[in-house]
Amino acid sequence: MSTRLRRRDFLGVLAAPALMRGMPTPKIKDVSVIATAPGGLRLVVVKILTDQDGLYGYGCGTFTQRADLVVEAVNRYLRPLLVGRPADAIGDLWEAMYNSSYWRNGPVLNNAISGVDQALWDIKGRQAGMPVYELLGGKCRQGAMIYSHASGAEIADTLDSARKIMARGIKAVRLQVAVPGYAAYGAGQRRPATGDPVFDPYAYVRRTLQLFEAGRKELGPEVHLLHDVHERVPPRLAVQFAKALEQYNLFYMEDALAPEDIDYFREIRKNCTTPLAMGELFNSPHEWNMLIRERLIDYIRVHVTQAGGLTPSWKLATMAEAFQVRTAWHGPGDVSPIGHCANVTLDLVCRNFGIQEWSPSNERIDEVFDGYPQMKDGYLLANEKPGWGVEINEKAAAKYPFGSFENGERKDLNGGWGVVRTPDGTVINQ
Ligand code: MG
Repeated sequence: MSTRLRRRDFLGVLAAPALMRGMPTPKIKDVSVIATAPGGLRLVVVKILTDQDGLYGYGCGTFTQRADLVVEAVNRYLRPLLVGRPADAIGDLWEAMYNSSYWRNGPVLNNAISGVDQALWDIKGRQAGMPVYELLGGKCRQGAMIYSHASGAEIADTLDSARKIMARGIKAVRLQVAVPGYAAYGAGQRRPATGDPVFDPYAYVRRTLQLFEAGRKELGPEVHLLHDVHERVPPRLAVQFAKALEQYNLFYMEDALAPEDIDYFREIRKNCTTPLAMGELFNSPHEWNMLIRERLIDYIRVHVTQAGGLTPSWKLATMAEAFQVRTAWHGPGDVSPIGHCANVTLDLVCRNFGIQEWSPSNERIDEVFDGYPQMKDGYLLANEKPGWGVEINEKAAAKYPFGSFENGERKDLNGGWGVVRTPDGTVINQ
């Protein structure tokens, strides 16, 4: 058989699903980007139009710290690659996008790919008249248990915040507290008048152990407690910290190590049973495969768009299931409502779901995005509409451009998080 014949057969297979339903394959007519910051954080959403009337989709490609670059990657590189191609061959298009840059696995390109990938899943769901979770086999649970963030300047403030969260029926709370005289992740950055914020890892560990001693005592044995180290301590201190936290029976300790230091998870495992979550900075299987295969973590905590969207994240969840590693997809405010829908979709269809980080919506976000997943009694629910079930008011989105402006000039072109230093002036992980 000639190469030409084989290729024609292959394309025939790609077109078969739509033809079998007696409808033409939708073709990608245009790809554009909606860049908006209604909640203050830069959100990037890809919109794909097809050649079929009223059939379109949205996907999240939010990398808030370098959002402008994702917009460029979609407009300059992915759009020309995609226009005219069949919209229903999601896996094929994912591989084409992933391989087209030759150098790959970076967060900018992965987020751009994710925007397209999720938009294609949205299109497929809208075409089928089904939520995406139905396309993945249907729900294996009705709601996804969430956790919310409690923080404060003092330990008593954090615990008050936790009590308010628990009063809403939420069963898991992440506790963070400020460290007097220093910056601390998740509890408000104390920025000095001049110079960069200073973080002392040893003062942070001592203070956080006091927080959990008081937290477990005052909040009781039943509530699930979590903590995010945010990769800020040296590896050996992280091992000691995990061991010292063991007595407080955490649901998990998050990002105890930086991605560069993951070999030290073996040391933590040897020394204690504190459950471990890792991975919000991961880009690819090169980073998570070893941790899962050797059962060095309990929860994989990838930012779905950073990994390239729903398609690779679904595969990651399936791989993790075989090793009893559960999912805890990254879900703070720098995920768009489309991305939150992708998270809850995976939560509902994957048997090895663990917990979902959750950020509530607000009036301005709801003005732009209609369909944000709702939380009830501590569980996140799908919105039950076809695709992701989210519609975007593009006029409202345009009211909230990226950045702050002074005399018509944008002031935050860096878009990053600045620098944090140890007391001797060394720059550390954010
Ligand atoms: Mg985190």
